[in-house]
Amino acid sequence: MSAVNLNSPEVQIRETRLNSITGFCGRASDLVRCSHARRLHNRSRSFSQGMMCSSSAAFCQLSMIVDAAVINHAPVGCAGDFPNFHFTFRAGQAERNMPSVIGRYFSSNIDENDTIFGATQKLADTIRLAYERVHPGAIFITTSCASGIIGDDVDGVAQVASDELGIPVIACICEGFRSGIWTSGFDAAYHSVVRGLVKPPRRKTNKVNIINFFGAHVFDEMLQRLGTEPTYIVPFSNVEDLKYVSEARATIQICPTLGSYFSSALEKVYGVPEIKSPPAYGVAGTDRWLRELGGILGQEDEVERIIEEGHERIGPKLEEYRRKFKGKTAYLTAGAAHGHAIIALVRELGFSVNGAAIFHHDPLYDNENPASDALAHDIATYGDINNYSVCNKQSFEIINLLNKYRPDILVARHTGMAHWGAKLGIPSFLVDDEQFGFGYDGILNYAERIEDTIDNREYLENFAKHAVSPYTKWWMDQDPFTFLGGDTNVDSY
Ligand code: SF4
Repeated sequence: MSAVNLNSPEVQIRETRLNSITGFCGRASDLVRCSHARRLHNRSRSFSQGMMCSSSAAFCQLSMIVDAAVINHAPVGCAGDFPNFHFTFRAGQAERNMPSVIGRYFSSNIDENDTIFGATQKLADTIRLAYERVHPGAIFITTSCASGIIGDDVDGVAQVASDELGIPVIACICEGFRSGIWTSGFDAAYHSVVRGLVKPPRRKTNKVNIINFFGAHVFDEMLQRLGTEPTYIVPFSNVEDLKYVSEARATIQICPTLGSYFSSALEKVYGVPEIKSPPAYGVAGTDRWLRELGGILGQEDEVERIIEEGHERIGPKLEEYRRKFKGKTAYLTAGAAHGHAIIALVRELGFSVNGAAIFHHDPLYDNENPASDALAHDIATYGDINNYSVCNKQSFEIINLLNKYRPDILVARHTGMAHWGAKLGIPSFLVDDEQFGFGYDGILNYAERIEDTIDNREYLENFAKHAVSPYTKWWMDQDPFTFLGGDTNVDSY
């Protein structure tokens, strides 16, 4: 478990490294209890409707390094999501007032002949072409199902090219079929960064690493008060920043589903302390997280002032919202750690969570520390969740569950999920900014958004009258877990 082996070009996938699963239904407390006892089993589905690709998850991080180029060693169809990443890249630059840079994304365009004769020469040619066109600070190569099936030695090609060009050329081994858990792609991307870019520290700085998706700035003011500076990684960093993340005083993660491997590797290899408390969502979670950060930075007194100010600032408004939402129900669907964060947020606001469909479950993160388990903290702080399922974005299960539970609000973290609630007339909203709910003020951000969504219920009710569902009445009357194999996630435990 938790192997960080920088001699190997690849990191183990989550199923084997962390024992992570994609199929569960039952009480959240059973999931946590069995996870901590290391007695959790996966339940596979006999029918699956769609999911994401771990190669794409790797690309979504590497493609945001502003002066790197990324080559997808794949048939050109695997590059179909380049425009989405490019949009995020350009919008993020504008949000941060950065100089405008076009994404440097390439495909080696593996074709039928290559799948018979191999595509290493094509890859070497693509690397040279990318270098001549855009002169990047580093080149990452993400692998694909096709390059994995034909067995191309991508790491070997990368090493030869690195010697020839004099810049880091780094293989990221992340074929889509390697893992049923797409977040294995984040681990693959970060392994390639730690192995191929990060250097031993020259000295310690006053910087704090923030492993982040695409949001901006939420940590700036707080870290400044604590006498430190943020380094947001990996999106919108540059190659030089990444080389010296080993010099930071601590690593924060916006979401352990994203940063588990990277933060653990930085602590294990370079001694950069990782904040192990779950990220700061909800009042109790924010208090706990801030105190751990303050302890690591030697800023306990200032942190106590931040906590006191935070409570005072949001207290009266929070009570108002709690009165308004009391007795209402929420359902949520999201990636693992962020889903646990949303559970804390909506319960903080007085909702009862009548169910959750969470995209996978990591029994413990790479730090192997139960204190990092956000779901366990949710249960200890706010109580159990009876209808908790682990479901890797299987729409047929989710719409069936929503139809049965009919919550007052659906909160969804990924695009393409909120509309399942809307089709049923359930007020639904998408939270695509992971920083939106962070810290004390994040609770009020959520409250405003939820209030707005619930108050516009009539629009959704009209929408539902005209919405066409691809699912028949027959399916909606079935047990939502009809296709979830096995009958338990545990053996006699
Ligand atoms: S890497 Fe595999 S799963 Fe991912 S887009 Fe390409 S073919 Fe599909």
